[in-house]
Amino acid sequence: MTPTIIGIGSVIILAASLLLFRRNRKHTERGPSLYMDALNSMLEEKHQEALEKLKLTVKADTENIMAYIYLGVVLRKLKLPVRASKVHKNLLVRNHLPSKQLNTILHHLILDYQEAGMADHAVEVAERLIQSNKHDLETKTLLLSLYEEKQDWDKAFFHRQSLNRWMKKKDQDILALYKVQAGLRQTGDSHEREGRIRFREAIKLYKKCVPAYLYWSDSYRREGRNNEALKILKEFLQAVPEWAHLGFDRLKTLLFDMGRYGDIEALFNLVIRKKPNRPDAYLELMDLYVRAGKYDKALDLAQKSLDLYPDNSRCRMALIRIYEQQNRTDEALEEAKKLIHKEHLKNIIFACSHCGFESSDPLWLCPQCRHWKTFLNEPS
Ligand SMILES: [Zn+2]
Repeated sequence: MTPTIIGIGSVIILAASLLLFRRNRKHTERGPSLYMDALNSMLEEKHQEALEKLKLTVKADTENIMAYIYLGVVLRKLKLPVRASKVHKNLLVRNHLPSKQLNTILHHLILDYQEAGMADHAVEVAERLIQSNKHDLETKTLLLSLYEEKQDWDKAFFHRQSLNRWMKKKDQDILALYKVQAGLRQTGDSHEREGRIRFREAIKLYKKCVPAYLYWSDSYRREGRNNEALKILKEFLQAVPEWAHLGFDRLKTLLFDMGRYGDIEALFNLVIRKKPNRPDAYLELMDLYVRAGKYDKALDLAQKSLDLYPDNSRCRMALIRIYEQQNRTDEALEEAKKLIHKEHLKNIIFACSHCGFESSDPLWLCPQCRHWKTFLNEPS
């Protein structure tokens, strides 16, 4: 949604009305100063004051359609969207409304319904408005946000695609996320196969669609099809090595369940060869070597990882742990001192770059502000 654009648009319309009204004032003398006062109050955001004045204005002149429209707007601003929608809806029964005015009424009716949480009604009106004006980008954008709100991913997909064509934009990554959401709905309803079809479509749209791989493999896992799940996770490592670490837990438990312990080492090595910008694969592999008592290999890896990621506290902690396991207390202490001097330990937390919502899991759709892909730059 673009609340600022709509907001600015309303202010411009309001200011234009004021100007227009001043010009036409000579011709219509019925309660003119009251109406103008009301518009001024609106511009000054004195909503309650504007409401009283607009009520008096329409009482004196029931033909002042714009005053009714603003009355609804003010009610919406006063957090009374249902009442606002009634005012706007009542205007629709009037005959011979100029089409421009009719469209303005419909536009505000959409906003009323949206504010009231009546997304179905809002969608209905928005579809009607677009029917009469196919070039109405503002309503199209609004409709898209409504379908997202309703979690109607197929419709959202259709409308984003058509908006993209208009604006010569390519949103393959977000279109893919719609498919992922649709797939999750399917798998949530135990339609695993239909869900997987959506995940595959998501990857077709956008090869680096991380959640599509992860959920696709989860779906196979739920059906006990471990080989297929493994195949998807391997494709994931190849396609999106920069986010490989998000699949490590799944890979480890899967390979453990399959009894293929040896493959775990090979897979982490594969990720390391892709030179990821995070040390997670090194850390996983070190952990594996330490558990297996292969301290030389672990130590070698720890040093390599610190060459590559010298400021990474998790790499240094791993090195300390290896020294500790080998009873090399002096070296462990030396590294611990370096670590303390460098930085305090932080928990990895994912935060929405738009609204700051924090989550321990990476998310693709912020549950708070409903922006897409705002969690991808997590703090290091
Ligand atoms: Zn957010």
